[in-house]
Amino acid sequence: MLPLTITGISEIAPDVYLISLPKSFDFKAGQVVGITTSQEIPPRLYSIASGEKDPELWILFNLKPEGRLTPDLSLKKNGEQIYISPPSGAFLYDGNPAWWLASGTGIAPFYSMFRSGHRKNIRLIHGGRNANSFYFSGEFISAFGNNYLRCCSGDALPGMYHGRLTQWLLEQEHLPLDIKYYLCGSAEMVIETRDILISKGIPFQSVVAEIYF
Ligand SMILES: Cc1cc2nc3c(=O)[nH]c(=O)nc-3n(C[C@H](O)[C@H](O)[C@H](O)COP(=O)(O)OP(=O)(O)OC[C@H]3O[C@@H](n4cnc5c(N)ncnc54)[C@H](O)[C@@H]3O)c2cc1C
Repeated sequence: MLPLTITGISEIAPDVYLISLPKSFDFKAGQVVGITTSQEIPPRLYSIASGEKDPELWILFNLKPEGRLTPDLSLKKNGEQIYISPPSGAFLYDGNPAWWLASGTGIAPFYSMFRSGHRKNIRLIHGGRNANSFYFSGEFISAFGNNYLRCCSGDALPGMYHGRLTQWLLEQEHLPLDIKYYLCGSAEMVIETRDILISKGIPFQSVVAEIYF
């Protein structure tokens, strides 16, 4: 594991943090790194949120109050060290027309793909609980316009679908059959979303998933 010094950490929404680190290796958008704060805690995997050409490495994470790593990670300050493994993973976007479906911090690999220049023929659908859950929404609105949809399961908010992402998908009569669907989020979200897509005629091989377990 490579020791890296934190250059920035902020709570961008309640219990959701964005960490900046010096970029010390190349990676492909969609890849993950292992992170830990000490030798005693086994590393956890995190999607890289920054783009391939960004000068820093960004990690977006949720604080799990009963978790082993994230309570400690969320208390880290600028100038402190954490440990990081080299990038790995095959959740890579192939550049063809696609829908990107994310829940919560599952938006991170898509933000990386977006910042790496992938913006055409994309529909981005993000599920979250409340107004604070739609990280990076300003940039997504500017770039994707109506091809960016926020599904807010808690509050009914202007400009957003009120309900879960899976509910929105169920309500669609027709989904494009000739594109790929990239899914990222909790196991529950990914499995439920994949099942809905398949029930609507999407071929199994057109569904590409990254599960945050
Ligand atoms: C490929 C991949 C990419 C990921 N990318 C991200 C990302 O970009 N951002 C992000 O926020 N997360 C991501 N994750 C999830 C991340 O790796 C961690 O699992 C998460 O941050 C929790 O780590 P933790 O050590 O704080 O919690 P853990 O100690 O792993 O615990 C996780 C949860 O399980 C519960 N738990 C722990 N032990 C038990 C037990 N014995 N019985 C019952 N419940 C228990 C805890 O209460 C806690 O809520 C990713 C996971 C994978 C696999």
